[in-house]
Amino acid sequence: MEIPVIAEEAEKKGLDMVGTGDILNPKWLRHVREETEEKDGYLEKDNVKFIPTTEVEDQDRIHHLIIFPDLETVEEAYRDFRELSDDIRREGRPRIKADGEKIVEIAKKHDCLIGPCHAFTPYTAVYGHKNSLKECYGDQVDNLDFLELGLSADSSMASKISDHEDMVFLSNSDAHSPWPHRLGREFNRAELEEESFEGLRKLFHREAGEIELNVGLDPREGKYHCSACNSCHQKYSLQQAKDFDWRCQECSGTIKKGVKDRVEELSDREADYPVRYLHLPPLAKIIQYTVGHASPTTKTVQKRYEVLNEEFGAEIDILVEIEIEEIAEIDEEVAESIRKFREDEIVMIPGGGGQYGERIIPEDVSEREEILEEKSSEIECRY
Ligand SMILES: [Zn+2]
Ligand SMILES: [Zn+2]
Repeated sequence: MEIPVIAEEAEKKGLDMVGTGDILNPKWLRHVREETEEKDGYLEKDNVKFIPTTEVEDQDRIHHLIIFPDLETVEEAYRDFRELSDDIRREGRPRIKADGEKIVEIAKKHDCLIGPCHAFTPYTAVYGHKNSLKECYGDQVDNLDFLELGLSADSSMASKISDHEDMVFLSNSDAHSPWPHRLGREFNRAELEEESFEGLRKLFHREAGEIELNVGLDPREGKYHCSACNSCHQKYSLQQAKDFDWRCQECSGTIKKGVKDRVEELSDREADYPVRYLHLPPLAKIIQYTVGHASPTTKTVQKRYEVLNEEFGAEIDILVEIEIEEIAEIDEEVAESIRKFREDEIVMIPGGGGQYGERIIPEDVSEREEILEEKSSEIECRY
């Protein structure tokens, strides 16, 4: 994960703006400074704009995402956070000995943008530890600029909580490697007044610009989507789990509460969010499912990825934009898979109890119906 590599891969993917991540780390800050050119409101490397960002972890193990206007501000904020952290010199995501309220206060003192990260993950996020944003952010709750959904949730889930009304949801990829099935595995498409920090600020505050599309993984793919047994992965509905006192009826293991049911507990209204959320895995993964390989990095998968990439350019265009007939002229099988993803003809067996969900690409509509019927209790997360 170095700037020149990220810039090259981002261009292949079709990403115009990328968060640097980890920018409070002094070594990484030096690298970013050396490798990019600082412009008004963004950093530039080749044709990609970078925006300084970091996650920080608070005293309750909750993660927050901070977006900085420029590198000078990063250094100023660093001095404040250093007073409250033992590991800021060496960690990518420093631990700050303060609560969410204090962290927002510091971020706002420096005119940064801030919001909760991957808000629903069970162990390190706001709803893993608190029952409301207010409980975490106190009087600073109105100063939050956005909410990051994370890989385990989408906007229809998050919009069931009325506290999130008027908030902009971000589907960020939180990539830990630059390869195309990681970088931009989730992304946001927005119309911005300008591609800069200021453009983002206006977008979040609804002064100018608009989010057009959130694209990300299907939350049902997550290891903790349904409530399910930690040992044998038998799934349960929330009511069943409660009735059985969180004890598995098959093996007497422990039932772990899933993200879906956590959202259900917190929700106080019907899902309602104006921006479309497209459930779409990265192209390399779609090719992997199509050829039936175990990983997206096999030679065959990479080869077919490169051919499409050379023909059509940015991956994001191939996934959401280019006509299926056009793609089919180059790779008929993959084009058909992309069509099924775009039109939601995939069957998803949700994950739970530490087991990932499983995607099935049915041959045709009637096979899809068969699978839906045969696996209905698993698909609906019940015993
Ligand atoms: Zn995090
Ligand atoms: Zn069990």
